[in-house]
Amino acid sequence: MGRLIVLAALVWLAGFVSISPATAQEVVEFTAQTAEYRFAERLEFSAEFTSTAVILDGYVFYQVGESERIWVYEGDISRGRLDVNVLLDEHNQPQGFTTIRYWFRIASDHGEFFESPRYTLYYEDNRFDWQQAQSDPFTLYWHAGGPDFAVAVLAAATEGVGRVQAVLPLPAPRPVTLRVYVAEADLQRAAELAGYPWAAGHMQPGRGVLLFALAPDGEAESLRQVRHEVAHLTLYDGLGADGYANLPAWLNEGIATLAEGEPDPQQLALLYAAAEAGALPPLYSLCAEMPQDAVAAQIASIQSGSLVRYLVQRFNVTGFAILVEAYARSGDCLNAPRAAFGVDLLQLELDWRTASFEQPDPLAQVPWGAIATAAGVAAVLWLLSRLAARSGR
Ligand SMILES: [Zn+2]
Repeated sequence: MGRLIVLAALVWLAGFVSISPATAQEVVEFTAQTAEYRFAERLEFSAEFTSTAVILDGYVFYQVGESERIWVYEGDISRGRLDVNVLLDEHNQPQGFTTIRYWFRIASDHGEFFESPRYTLYYEDNRFDWQQAQSDPFTLYWHAGGPDFAVAVLAAATEGVGRVQAVLPLPAPRPVTLRVYVAEADLQRAAELAGYPWAAGHMQPGRGVLLFALAPDGEAESLRQVRHEVAHLTLYDGLGADGYANLPAWLNEGIATLAEGEPDPQQLALLYAAAEAGALPPLYSLCAEMPQDAVAAQIASIQSGSLVRYLVQRFNVTGFAILVEAYARSGDCLNAPRAAFGVDLLQLELDWRTASFEQPDPLAQVPWGAIATAAGVAAVLWLLSRLAARSGR
């Protein structure tokens, strides 16, 4: 009879607690659990349970995000309670800003295992006291500066979308988190732990979050950055990952630079000085990526912004949208403009240089050595054939 009651209890319990399938003799019920953490430092799991068995050992198991890997750590058992502290170091850092699925397993003195249900926790950067503000599709987290700063950042994000939409028929981005740090080092650590992809000091969109390092008192420059990154995001969401990847670096960066706002006079001065010195990189060299060097990257960004402004003016919004669409579809940096306008990239660049700097013969300033290194002999041959065609005209 006693056995039957236990079995009945087991059937009843099976609905909401996990029990050992190994035997019907012992009953364990997990009654409470918690999981706390300090980002990049430690995870602390605890479970409370009632048991008819003598429990000797206990473990936490967890999986991070989409990873198949299961981490296991043993904890301490005392009076119906299991505590597991996991110190995090470079070998076991969980991916930041992901969901951790975890469960407990305890073992009796007879060697039987009892497993808890599965639980989840969202593992984010809790080193700071984050404040939150919302303006669809943006959720902003910031930890320094007052409410005015948050309002300004959200307004800049909305402007970033609007400025892209002023030149391209793209929808607003999907819901996205903006997380604003103050110190670059804190941002870098978070990005590294989150495994966010970076290129030339910028976070790639597509992860549902954008990270910034902004000084709350350096507002004007900060807000340019917000508009810039949100513009990249708007392009990414609007064109899709493949279409976005197909955009030449100069076009992608140029649109984001355009979205920053009116060109900074100092930046324009830099552009003209570089043009005068013959130091502007040929557009061909900006197809795949922007320069790694910070100064060169800055000049290339201003140049790209200027070129995009020129294209919007020359072909108007409709024509510019056709060009971007052609690029998103083909990814052919040299020839996509030909499909859209019957002129190739080299001609567009010449026209832009003439319009911007009144340099009718910029080809004389093309740094052939740099092109050969960057693009290989094939590109040089191609350019030479273009020149031959031009001079024969
Ligand atoms: Zn950019």
